[in-house]
Amino acid sequence: MNAEYRIRDDLVALRGCDIVINLVLGVYTMACLFSHKWNDCKCEKCGKTRDEQHVWKGCVCSVCGQERSIDKITDQSVLAYIAINEKVKQRRDMAVDMLNDQVMLAEVVSKTGDYKTSGTALNKIKDQTILANFAKNSNSTVTRMAAVTKIVDQSILIEIVKNERVNDIRVAAAEKITSQDLVKELFPDFVEAKAKIDKEKARIKEQEDCKHNWNGSYCVKCGAARDD
Ligand SMILES: [Zn+2]
Ligand SMILES: [Zn+2]
Ligand SMILES: [Zn+2]
Repeated sequence: MNAEYRIRDDLVALRGCDIVINLVLGVYTMACLFSHKWNDCKCEKCGKTRDEQHVWKGCVCSVCGQERSIDKITDQSVLAYIAINEKVKQRRDMAVDMLNDQVMLAEVVSKTGDYKTSGTALNKIKDQTILANFAKNSNSTVTRMAAVTKIVDQSILIEIVKNERVNDIRVAAAEKITSQDLVKELFPDFVEAKAKIDKEKARIKEQEDCKHNWNGSYCVKCGAARDD
């Protein structure tokens, strides 16, 4: 081989090397050619990510943004986190569905901003002490009412009848007390209060079932007001 050819071969070899180096540089910095400096799932030098050691915040990695499927998560506190914080409703529902831990379900009821999620979670609570806490202390009448419907413990129901201020909730609790004499003693107006609530429920049902006959803004059959 003469000198001219040797030089050309060297140039070709050099150029090939150049291309490789450029390709590598496109993805990594020179510093990471041989080893990345991993911090969780991300290299702190070049920013490359790897599919391990993610820092999960519910369904999303807080470092690289990768998402994971919820159905493999078994940790109850993670599921509670998802039920409370996840933006996608379907994921929240799924998380509540997978929750069984009573304390975690209570956490969801207390912290979620979504009344439907709260209702579904509360519906899965059987622990009478937790339910009593909601029935007595929740600021939400909907939550207090929902808790009362799940309480079977007679002494808790008695306490609620004694202290609850909202009539509907008081009636709901009194209805579940087995001793009629006790109800009479604790809630002398119980029969009247219940009759009033039943009448109101019947009126609402009538309006729901009515094939309205509108006269202006009112139905002449059931008295309902038109929304529009
Ligand atoms: Zn790197
Ligand atoms: Zn990650
Ligand atoms: Zn009507």
